[in-house]
Amino acid sequence: MRRKSDLPVKTCATCGRPFTWRKKWAKVWDEVRYCSDRCRGARGKPGKGDKTSAS
Ligand SMILES: [Zn+2]
Repeated sequence: MRRKSDLPVKTCATCGRPFTWRKKWAKVWDEVRYCSDRCRGARGKPGKGDKTSAS
């Protein structure tokens, strides 16, 4: 029997939360470091710190 919990798990480099293997990551799982696009985009720059577009 297969268990859902048998899926690989990694820890997100941004939020530090564990995330589970997803089918869309099947080919790039070794490269996946973030739980979502949001965390991947937030790397190094928390929030919108764009000085060029200051209002
Ligand atoms: Zn994350």
